[in-house]
Amino acid sequence: MRSNPCKTTRNKRKFVRLLAVCLLALVAAAMTPYLVSARPAPANVIRVAFASPDLGTGVSRAELVCGSGFSVGGTSGDGRSFAGRSSLAGGTVFVVPAGGGVSVQASNGEVLASSGAGEALSLRSAGGNLTLRCGGKEYVCPGFLEFRAVGGALQVVNAVERETYVKCVMSTEIGSAASRETRRAFSVLIRTVPMGQKHASNGFDVCATTCCQVYRGIFRRDAENDAIVDSTAGEYVTYEGAPIHCLYHGGNGGASCSSVAAWGGPEIPYLKSVSLPEDADNASEVWRYEFTQSELFDFLSSRSKFHGIRGGVESVRIEETDPEGSGYVTLLSVTDGDDNVFEVATSEKIRTALRFKSANFTVSYSMDAAVAVAGGAVEQVAVTQYVGADGETHAFESFADCPVAGADAVADVDRIAFDGVGTGHGVGFSAVGAEQLVEQGYSYKYLLQFYFPGTKISKLA
Ligand SMILES: [Zn+2]
Repeated sequence: MRSNPCKTTRNKRKFVRLLAVCLLALVAAAMTPYLVSARPAPANVIRVAFASPDLGTGVSRAELVCGSGFSVGGTSGDGRSFAGRSSLAGGTVFVVPAGGGVSVQASNGEVLASSGAGEALSLRSAGGNLTLRCGGKEYVCPGFLEFRAVGGALQVVNAVERETYVKCVMSTEIGSAASRETRRAFSVLIRTVPMGQKHASNGFDVCATTCCQVYRGIFRRDAENDAIVDSTAGEYVTYEGAPIHCLYHGGNGGASCSSVAAWGGPEIPYLKSVSLPEDADNASEVWRYEFTQSELFDFLSSRSKFHGIRGGVESVRIEETDPEGSGYVTLLSVTDGDDNVFEVATSEKIRTALRFKSANFTVSYSMDAAVAVAGGAVEQVAVTQYVGADGETHAFESFADCPVAGADAVADVDRIAFDGVGTGHGVGFSAVGAEQLVEQGYSYKYLLQFYFPGTKISKLA
């Protein structure tokens, strides 16, 4: 058995561990902040990108199906109106980049319509469903589609009326299981997100993924959610008159993560940590990842943030957590076997670096030890503590700790566990917490103002 010299534990930081547990496994949008201060008035048509070369999701070809034919033209004004110029018979057509513009082709390659270099080309249904297939996915699209060649690949944008967009996103981001008031709150959140215009510099408002919020066109829309959206028509969340940077997540374990802890940058008054102990009876969002020492080394070696890690892992330490007390880890250090230290700061970089469900976690180490029990039997038990030189017991804080102070280890600390709660970035509105507030009788407006303190509900004309 290998013998390790004992090391004095260091960085004995303590942080508040939030034991509350989450209720539901709802979809959480993993969004990054978009700190745009001056914005134009919210638009009645939302531009959503299914494919964008600027975001690394451009496509070489898109397939369009519409049985009743297509109107072909351009996009006028601010990119939110369709300007038809010609029509095509029903069937299947393909859109490809060509000569700096785009070309619409029949399946035999015949060119049916095209745009000049740098110009976009738009298509919409002449009646009935318009189905788009691109990037390995299929969407039934309301509104119209705009295609543009960017760097030799296609950008595909769906221009869709605002309230229709909200109804479509309801099915992917909240579904139909949550209470009516939580869904009403979500309808307001979903309407507010594109007003942030996170991708304005790319020529559209939002993308169709968890980067912004998931949009799949007309997908599992149901009459009940449509009616819920109608009940909040035009409502959105504002702070000092401007749409908020609207962030939501599945659950956070008892306190939302502050935006500063998640991404750094200046404090945003309505994105501070908000406490609401979440129901401990529901374990659906409590998670644990366990590794042996060698498994952890293999795992970290595969993650780009820890590129160059050598000689195994000596320790993973939580150095700092959200100063607002949420428990989200904001500074993590990994020391490798050659004493190189890798640090990752901000909770979202930590979550991404480790690919964990959230950055709200604790770290513990353990080892198996043979312990004599009653009757003279010996059992293998997991030991998580050691007796220090001060005579007190302490939790292991690295693989190099050993169970008896001042002596060589008789066995190695060889396991590490990450115990966490919540899903997603944990900033802003919590779906799990919202359900608890609804059970206490609160309305959707209260929910929104609880999670975004100091904000108001405004209404579009
Ligand atoms: Zn996005």
